[in-house]
Amino acid sequence: MQKNDIIELKIEDMGVDGEGIGKYDGMTFFVKDAVLGDEIEARITKMKKNYGYARVEQILSPSKFRVTPQCELHRRCGGCQIQALDYEKQLEFKQNKVRGNLIRIGGFAPELIDRIMLPVVGMKEPYRYRNKAQFPIGADKDGNPVAGFYAARTHSIIPVNDCKLGVEENQIILNEVLSYMKEYHVASYDENTGKGLVRHVLIRYGFSTKELMVCVIINGSSLPKVEKLIDRLTAIEGMKSISINQNTKKTNVILGDVTKCIWGDPYITDMIHLCDTKDFSLTDTAVAYHISPQSFYQVNPVQTEKLYSLALDYAGLTGKETVWDLYCGIGTISLFLAQKAGKVYGVEIIPQAIEDAKNNAALNGINNAEFFVGKAEEVLPAFYEKKKDTDADMLHPDVIVVDPPRKGCDGVCLETMLKMQPERIVYVSCDSATLARDLKVLCEGGYELCKVRAVDQFGNTTHVETVVLLSQQKPDDTIEIDLDLDELDATSAELKATYQEIKDYVLKEFGLKVSSLYISQVKRKCGIEVGENYNLPKSENARVPQCPKEKEDAIKAALKYFAMI
Ligand code: SAH
Repeated sequence: MQKNDIIELKIEDMGVDGEGIGKYDGMTFFVKDAVLGDEIEARITKMKKNYGYARVEQILSPSKFRVTPQCELHRRCGGCQIQALDYEKQLEFKQNKVRGNLIRIGGFAPELIDRIMLPVVGMKEPYRYRNKAQFPIGADKDGNPVAGFYAARTHSIIPVNDCKLGVEENQIILNEVLSYMKEYHVASYDENTGKGLVRHVLIRYGFSTKELMVCVIINGSSLPKVEKLIDRLTAIEGMKSISINQNTKKTNVILGDVTKCIWGDPYITDMIHLCDTKDFSLTDTAVAYHISPQSFYQVNPVQTEKLYSLALDYAGLTGKETVWDLYCGIGTISLFLAQKAGKVYGVEIIPQAIEDAKNNAALNGINNAEFFVGKAEEVLPAFYEKKKDTDADMLHPDVIVVDPPRKGCDGVCLETMLKMQPERIVYVSCDSATLARDLKVLCEGGYELCKVRAVDQFGNTTHVETVVLLSQQKPDDTIEIDLDLDELDATSAELKATYQEIKDYVLKEFGLKVSSLYISQVKRKCGIEVGENYNLPKSENARVPQCPKEKEDAIKAALKYFAMI
């Protein structure tokens, strides 16, 4: 088999990135845009020793889970990896993704997860849910300005004014910006040459207030005839804020450092309501937020209400508690918590976000929240050292909430959380792989996994949020178990899976290729007997590559899966 060969496959599984997985001639193939259950003809795009990549050439028999995507361009854009999969099946995929990561990476027993994990909270309508859109601006072949998205691995823009995940207002705004550019000969930015003016248009929409914000990102400091643009945009109902952001660097980062408000307020306002977590109906309790162009704000406000309500529910507050909210952004969760707690301390790395958090607290008349700028892994240990013997409430809070970015919590942060011994930890996560890794550390440090629930914030994509409750294990929670010593016998464990089986598993579950050398290194680390000289350096100073951490974790997960550790 080689590149460009055509093969017939049945898609029997899905990878974590939404790709279809099928076997041909004993070999595993990863096929982008194939749906679970499809029978397809595929063209091999890349061959590796034990697996390959392919793309759909023809669908011979479509899966019963295949649906017609609303966006014709979804395959070229790549933002919606699973738009062709029935939404119910998307939810099942996300539930399994979180469950699988907790078992494989977190090392939790499947029975435990199945007992405590509630079904994923889905969306009513998995389209038009995003409150923020950032469209790159370029030129078509005739030099006319266009908005759209970058075709994969290129600098050329595929024109589309209407992303189906965004609100319909995006299209109206883009049309006005493009027609202003055309009429006044305002050039779009060219990524290749670094010339031209208009780079991106950022749009935000307040779902509960219907307020609109437009921020035009430019390679310069001003727009010609800007009043003409303002006239056009202010004619759109709901317009509240227009600004210009200067970004003159040759970079992929969208926003530059300087933003100037040119009309209206430098922010829009939105509200997040508390839901009843039994049926997710909205209550009258709400928090208002000012959101500026740079602020981090959850992109799916409807699902965010459900997510935060669950987090608040898990925090189990009665009005007296001291709570830390780490990675607090503009204080979104902190201000929710503050309404039910005695005192809330928020920590966030971006100074502007903390400014917003303080303003948002004032906006809502909340005065029991205090915010600190800095890295959670630095602010928290510094407090711990400084206030060790003085402020017991702060040091031993009732609850710590964390909502880190995809890479999860820093080790030092987890370590300090364990020292602080809160009664409960609520972990909100946008990446269930790093979540599982961190939960393992916290559970080894004396916490018990009590509740897990995934919330779909990102319909049609493979991403999913999860909220977890951990609670401190009391000494009387310990249980006695009988150990069958035979099961601990290293030699029988050694027989459980071959190197090839471990390699296949790691490839399938983590998309990583690992060598026998690495497997033997990890086995040795885990105390599993490995043939005496197997892969040991031949001479004293032989330089043997050491298994990188990511691969070590994946191999350990495989060893767990095969019940070898
Ligand atoms: N809880 C907020 C924000 C969550 S996003 C909300 O729901 O709106 C994660 C946040 O963590 C971002 O605001 C990011 O700026 C911040 N962050 C990233 N690394 C951090 C670190 N090491 N310490 C503290 N905050 C960090």
